[in-house]
Amino acid sequence: MHFAGWFGISSAAAILAACSAPAETADEPASSSPASSTECPLEGAAVQVLGSGGPIAEAARAGTSYLLWIDGEPRLLIDAGAGSFLRFAEAGGKLATLDAILLTHLHADHAGDLAGVLNSGGFEGRSEPLAVIGPDAAPRFPGTAEFLERLVSKDSGAFAYNGGYLDGTENKPLLEARDVTTAGGNAEAEGLDISNDFSVTAHPVNHGVVPALGYAIEVGGKAVVITGDQSSASEAFAADLTGSRPAILFAHHVINGEAGQPRGLHRTPFEIGELAGAIEPERLVLTHNMVRSLSRVDDSLSAIAESYDGDVSIATDLDCYPL
Ligand SMILES: [Zn+2]
Repeated sequence: MHFAGWFGISSAAAILAACSAPAETADEPASSSPASSTECPLEGAAVQVLGSGGPIAEAARAGTSYLLWIDGEPRLLIDAGAGSFLRFAEAGGKLATLDAILLTHLHADHAGDLAGVLNSGGFEGRSEPLAVIGPDAAPRFPGTAEFLERLVSKDSGAFAYNGGYLDGTENKPLLEARDVTTAGGNAEAEGLDISNDFSVTAHPVNHGVVPALGYAIEVGGKAVVITGDQSSASEAFAADLTGSRPAILFAHHVINGEAGQPRGLHRTPFEIGELAGAIEPERLVLTHNMVRSLSRVDDSLSAIAESYDGDVSIATDLDCYPL
């Protein structure tokens, strides 16, 4: 395996890192050739990792979030995990140019900053409706439409003052919510009609009892696949994408090489390698990184290398990967 880990960080992240002295960096391998930078190109498509962390507040990582850029414009926001509000601003994200917001699932490390992003977007004066697409409901998890109701409904929302998002009044764009059927990861993949410039397929995945989705996005003949949080029980996801050879596979790297799989929620590094070996991306990017997953990153890379021999990068916040 050619390991192309890139640990360049933005000035803001560097300041945070200097203040918090994250222990995780001590065990990370030295950087080699960069596959990304914190500046996305003005031409072509790229995916920027806004938040490369998980649910635990540690080091300089926001919760999971991605931004799809096309020709210098942010077009898709995928997840808005806790902390990503700040990264969205640092990246130059705007609600005004988005075609949609996609959510993989409704854990706080993936959706906790959505209210902040919407609140900020309310100052942009956008009038066109905006699609918000995510998983359906299950016990203890509202569906995506219900989630938005609970956030900003004028009647009962936690942030009822932003209720204009649900009826397109008060200088807010109407949010068009859509629940994708997940069935525990067993529902069929669904093509989403979002834009003429790119295509998106929502793939139900298994994340324990949590309704969850992964996404495949194709722009100009190049594809990117985002696993979301998923366990190895996500068999349809793997089968549907086997041999699809995307430019990039973003895989959520939650646990290290030796730890057991907590409650069947996530793929182990070996299972990430199996998935990458089947999907055959040009580059595998590990994100949703935590101290627990990076503390023995060499074990993870060795486990992945048993099934996948392509390039591997470890994402930090704001890394931009051109397709
Ligand atoms: Zn997560």
